[in-house]
Amino acid sequence: MSTIKPIKIYKPKPYLLACEFSDGFSATIKLEHLRKECPCALCTTEQKKSSFSMDVPLLSTFKAGMNDLKNIKKVGNYAIAVEWGDGHNTGIYTWENLREIFKKHALEQQELEELEKKFG
Ligand SMILES: [Zn+2]
Repeated sequence: MSTIKPIKIYKPKPYLLACEFSDGFSATIKLEHLRKECPCALCTTEQKKSSFSMDVPLLSTFKAGMNDLKNIKKVGNYAIAVEWGDGHNTGIYTWENLREIFKKHALEQQELEELEKKFG
């Protein structure tokens, strides 16, 4: 079985990320969803903690720039590394992981139109 890989990744809006995959699947998601799914050790530990105890500050506590995508770099032949506006850059998203995130959070046409009305 050949690996499904992203062919094209781009930001149609400052708050959106779109991706086309080699099997023909394409979708658009909110950048905040990509950030929430950050697979690095730091973020996944915080996600676990926050679901157990409400005393622990939630990961979703907003930091300036945390949902601004600054840079995407290809890592070897299997993943991308994402750098965020708040300096967070330890998240490595494998292509498989990326595909799952885009499938899970894919926005409907109607949702896209509503976002565009709200944020331009
Ligand atoms: Zn992270």
